[in-house]
Amino acid sequence: MNRTEDILTYMKKFLHKIREILRYTGKQIKIIPIRVRHYCRKVGLSKVVFNTKKVYEKQFDEQKSGNVQKKGSLVRGIGAGILTGILAAAAISAAIFHSYAEDTADREAELKSEIAELESEKKSLEDKNAILQIEGDKSEIARKNAEILASDEAGWSLVLVNEEHPLATDYEPPQLVAIDSERSVDSRIAADLQQMMSDGAAQGLDMYVTSAYRSYERQREVFSAGMQERLNSGLAPLEAYEDTSTSIAFPGTSEHATGLAVDIIANGYSELDEKQASTPEQQWLMAHCWEYGFILRYPQDTGDITGIIYEPWHYRYVGKEAAKEITEQGITLEEYLGE
Ligand SMILES: [Zn+2]
Repeated sequence: MNRTEDILTYMKKFLHKIREILRYTGKQIKIIPIRVRHYCRKVGLSKVVFNTKKVYEKQFDEQKSGNVQKKGSLVRGIGAGILTGILAAAAISAAIFHSYAEDTADREAELKSEIAELESEKKSLEDKNAILQIEGDKSEIARKNAEILASDEAGWSLVLVNEEHPLATDYEPPQLVAIDSERSVDSRIAADLQQMMSDGAAQGLDMYVTSAYRSYERQREVFSAGMQERLNSGLAPLEAYEDTSTSIAFPGTSEHATGLAVDIIANGYSELDEKQASTPEQQWLMAHCWEYGFILRYPQDTGDITGIIYEPWHYRYVGKEAAKEITEQGITLEEYLGE
């Protein structure tokens, strides 16, 4: 029961008392001030009662002095006093009710905003948790990738390295073999690469490896240089970053860090763009690389799967068996691995 209901209850008793008083006017009048004060106190009307009481007492005294004619005015006096009390009580209870309603609305709004705040805090914690979870998963993948790559377990040549599947930044191939004065590859692919290059040359093709193993540090330099180039051409930093990421893998997500990937270009056309695909060298490589355990890693129109644009120069060693299957099925490494 709230305060307003309390007041209404007392008001009812009050009115009942008034009826009683009016019925027995004169005889029971002496109890009026006490009772009225009692009920009025309950509803916070002691001032009104005090004034009303004065009227009663004055008139009661007159009545006691034997002036019976005063009886009528006494009743009116009581009536007026009580009416004042009722009106004041009604006004106050209305005010209390109003302020109670206002308080309730305020408290409700306050609670709602507190709940909203907690909800948003919870959401933000959940988001942070999800990010940490992804980061945790990624660092677990990166560690696992490095572990498999470094081992001689079956599957070392099928390690998937992309944006979602990074490689530990401190990974170094177990053994690097230099293919020229500047470049090297994982020793396990060197013989097949060598064979492919010399078989191509025997076909009268002129091509060379322009990029092979790249350490994490080297990848950072390449990525930064790519970003800088785009910034210089007038792109905003975020645009420059996004554009760079589509053609240069972010450090830690590059296949070049595995030592299993090479960029091969035709001597007659050294640009790294789509026209590279029309050179006889790339035509031959695309048709035969699988025989040596390589695949064209970022084929045309597969950017939404690989995250990298069409790169008709980037070849990745996956082993002869997988290379054959991937080529026959015309799929990407991601699809082959079900990722
Ligand atoms: Zn490449």
